[in-house]
Amino acid sequence: MLLLACTYMSTFAWADDAYLSEEKDILVATHSSVWKPYSYLSDNGQPKGLLVDFWQAYAQYNHEPVQFVLLDWADTLAYMKEGGNRVHAGLLKSAERETYLDFVAPIFNIDGSLYIRNDARGTKTDTLVGGKTVGVVAGSYESNYLSKHYPDVAQQTYANNERLFDAAFSGEVDALVADSQVANFYMLTFDKPLTFVAEQILYTRPIYAAVPKGNQALLDQVRDGMNNIPAEELLRIKQKWVNTERVEAYPAWLIPSIVLVMLLGAVTYIFILKRMVYKRTVSLRRANARLREFANTDPLTQLLNRRGLETYFTRLKPKLSRQQEVGLILIDLDHFKQVNDTYGHMQGDKVLVHLASYLKRCVKKGAAARLGGEEFCILCPTQDLDALIEIANHIRCDIAETVFEFGGADIRVTVSIGAIVSSDVVEEMKQLELDALIHAADLLMYRAKDRGRNQVMLASSQSVNTPIAEI
Ligand code: GH3
Ligand code: MG
Ligand code: MG
Repeated sequence: MLLLACTYMSTFAWADDAYLSEEKDILVATHSSVWKPYSYLSDNGQPKGLLVDFWQAYAQYNHEPVQFVLLDWADTLAYMKEGGNRVHAGLLKSAERETYLDFVAPIFNIDGSLYIRNDARGTKTDTLVGGKTVGVVAGSYESNYLSKHYPDVAQQTYANNERLFDAAFSGEVDALVADSQVANFYMLTFDKPLTFVAEQILYTRPIYAAVPKGNQALLDQVRDGMNNIPAEELLRIKQKWVNTERVEAYPAWLIPSIVLVMLLGAVTYIFILKRMVYKRTVSLRRANARLREFANTDPLTQLLNRRGLETYFTRLKPKLSRQQEVGLILIDLDHFKQVNDTYGHMQGDKVLVHLASYLKRCVKKGAAARLGGEEFCILCPTQDLDALIEIANHIRCDIAETVFEFGGADIRVTVSIGAIVSSDVVEEMKQLELDALIHAADLLMYRAKDRGRNQVMLASSQSVNTPIAEI
């Protein structure tokens, strides 16, 4: 075995001349010749890889030469068993290995993963079940791991990683167990990035430097030497060799695309929701406005009802001043019961509708309302009582002269009117209430009835009870 090692050493040994000492017992680091990217031989026979860089850094920072002997994996273990001034450049710990090695310190973590041929995934081969053949490197930790944890799995062994991946790429095996970093490196190097996909990480363990068992001086020397390598240097070496990107089973654009689609979906959903809320709010506002209109309108005549007049009055009140009073004209049809009795209720309704549209036309500034039954009202801002008298008398005369011709019948009606201005009721505008105005006008209207109907009664500015004019 030593002869074999020396043969390899003469072919593959490396040592920096600057660090070569006179001593013949140079530290020899052994590792695999085909464990890319950790250690391998370049095309021109030079040792390369992450662990090679690591032990070169060890040599540099400790001023101690290191020679490399790169072999097939199983041979590296046999080489270490022979003892001597040797260090295994990096391997996983196991009970069996501890029988002939002293493990110094961890160097890097590695993952051992089960790889499945991509086009065979989704079949029953994608888990480690019995009766399946899995490719591994002979004598490797992966091989021992499988024997221990998956004894039913049949192992197809290969001398080294290169053979293993050659066999895998040529279709000899559908599954293999290897270090993730090594597998990624081979797949990328052979330009077959997704040929095999990591289906299951079996373990994550550190790889250690190890020396032959029982050589305490060498153990201490290597431990101290490893501690002399700065952390940044370790990081630099790792980043140089290990492809940290995971080879995923799905394309790289998938997750960003899903996130984008979800974002677009969320934005669209919010937009649609906002639009819906806006539309509903608008139609709700319209419906509310219509409801308000219904609530404030008399259905027969389409004039304001009592409630509508109240709303109008509330809006008008703040605009009034001492110079600008409000006048109220209360109009009640005389003997309207007789009109109904004589011509029918329908004809009576028509009279009411016509009267309503006439009153609406009369009001240039202000509002006309139907307070109920055959009782109407006009509310308008007015300068003085004379203006109000003129309007009220005009209405009384117009109605008395009108002939309503419905269904061949000529209907004539008269009205009794009570008219009042706000200063007749209260002195202070702010105390003014619509009810008080109507009540006062009502009393005057009844006085007009008492006096024989078809007339207008007005209140004096001093007293509700004292009419100041009679027309
Ligand atoms: P007065 O001169 O004293 O006011 O006599 P009047 O008959 O007008 O008064 P009264 O209060 O006795 O009767 C009011 C009548 O108005 C009774 C009813 O037939 C009529 N009336 C009330 N509302 C309506 C309505 O909506 N349509 C019709 N056609 N008639 C109505
Ligand atoms: Mg009445
Ligand atoms: Mg009446």
